[in-house]
Amino acid sequence: MLARCTSAAIVGVEACPVVVEADLGPGLPAFQIVGLPDTAVQESRERIRSALRNSGQRPLVSRLTVNLAPAALRKQGPSFDLPMALALQAAAGRIPLTWLEGLWATGELGLDGSLRPVRGVLAMAEAAQAAGARHLLVPKANGDEAAQIDGLSVLAAADLNEAQDQLNNPQVHPAPDQGRFAEMVDEFRFDLRDLQGQSHGRRALEIAAAGGHHMLLVGPPGCGKSVLARCLPDLLPPLSMEEALAVRRVHSVAFAQPDAGLRSQRPFRAPHHSCTPAALVGGGSPHPVPGEISLAHHGVLFLDELPEFGRHCLDHLREPLEQGAIDIARAGQRLRFPCQFQLVAAANPCPCGWWGDPVHSCSCGDAVRRRYWRQVSGPLLDRIDLHVPVRRLSPTEVSRPVAAETTVQVQQRLDVSRRNTSQRFGRQLFDNRLLDGRQLRLCSPLTSAARDLLDRLADRLGLSMRSLDRLVRVARTIADLANSERIEAEHLAEAATYRGCDLDVT
Ligand SMILES: [Zn+2]
Repeated sequence: MLARCTSAAIVGVEACPVVVEADLGPGLPAFQIVGLPDTAVQESRERIRSALRNSGQRPLVSRLTVNLAPAALRKQGPSFDLPMALALQAAAGRIPLTWLEGLWATGELGLDGSLRPVRGVLAMAEAAQAAGARHLLVPKANGDEAAQIDGLSVLAAADLNEAQDQLNNPQVHPAPDQGRFAEMVDEFRFDLRDLQGQSHGRRALEIAAAGGHHMLLVGPPGCGKSVLARCLPDLLPPLSMEEALAVRRVHSVAFAQPDAGLRSQRPFRAPHHSCTPAALVGGGSPHPVPGEISLAHHGVLFLDELPEFGRHCLDHLREPLEQGAIDIARAGQRLRFPCQFQLVAAANPCPCGWWGDPVHSCSCGDAVRRRYWRQVSGPLLDRIDLHVPVRRLSPTEVSRPVAAETTVQVQQRLDVSRRNTSQRFGRQLFDNRLLDGRQLRLCSPLTSAARDLLDRLADRLGLSMRSLDRLVRVARTIADLANSERIEAEHLAEAATYRGCDLDVT
């Protein structure tokens, strides 16, 4: 007899429907899986046999064939265990064929018949809902994740026997409480209150938060660059439901995180500089997975010790920074991972860290320093709007700390400015970073004094059109923070201070 049920293969962050067909035919006992399965799918045979036996089921002694269609799509991972086991049970006449009608299922089987969480359940739930599935059956640990999708009947089971009970007598998994969405935040968070001094860095951080600008912090070790970066996510507006789902979709493809619910806090990723290009931007063979830039989607990517990442890694960032997505080509497939992240990079001014310091002397020499900065290409630096020098605290600032402004105080100021600018171009929370040249000129009337200053700056510094746009873009955000419709000369003058760290390396 032939039985079929539906599952899905994850391609990028999308789920593609896969029909699982099982057939029991006459002949010597054998178990064959066809339809471009990878090794993990082939190993399903052993897991399914043991799981059935240890769940108290009789062994299947006939010629078993499982086909995963469409055959042209590569199938990977253990998530087909459950749909294959159910289709085989139905083909053997042990469960009614009607139970599998309109059913989508996914889950990895343990040898004892237990169901383990799998990756990409959120994407699969969306695909099942769009396809009008009757039920989606998932491992219990993935239940909350699947139930995020409205209008989908989710069944969750802890083991194979419970899965069959669920099909016999469906008990729909309740949707998680949406009210908890806003409260799901990390217990430990960095607060600007904990940062001493650094008024210039704080101001730059506020501008970065207001306009979504990428930022490069340059300063000696231990001056507070990482604390500044870690304070940024909380200064950004909380994720909308739609954004939170997009973030969760990427994380769900990258890890089988069983109990991770939706959260309104923006992701913060800080990969180590020893990471490979594939770990940074995504990839891997034969099954590409999202990299750190995609895990930071709608959040902040912090690259500490930027030049140490090396040019081979950093040059991969240019396209994603521009497009907000990365395309990964592999033999026979092309994947796209989203990656709209805000970049915060930090670097020492030189390998020893003390170049330009009034007290410590730098032991590197110009040639070494140039080689260090050559790892960061000009086009990458060009895409970073704010270049911020961060200086070492003076001994008095360290020994006599003064009460600093807290994250909440800065948040309140940013909320006011966001309300004023949220309707620009009829879109909510449009980051100034994303304004192109034309939009920038439409929304950035310069006063005549500002125009004069811009001409002088362009002339003296020999700025390209792109650099000029960058300058005006930052000035636009500074004017927004000052609640000014027009860009004044003072806004432009402040923007010019974030143009370069005077590294003298080119
Ligand atoms: Zn040095």
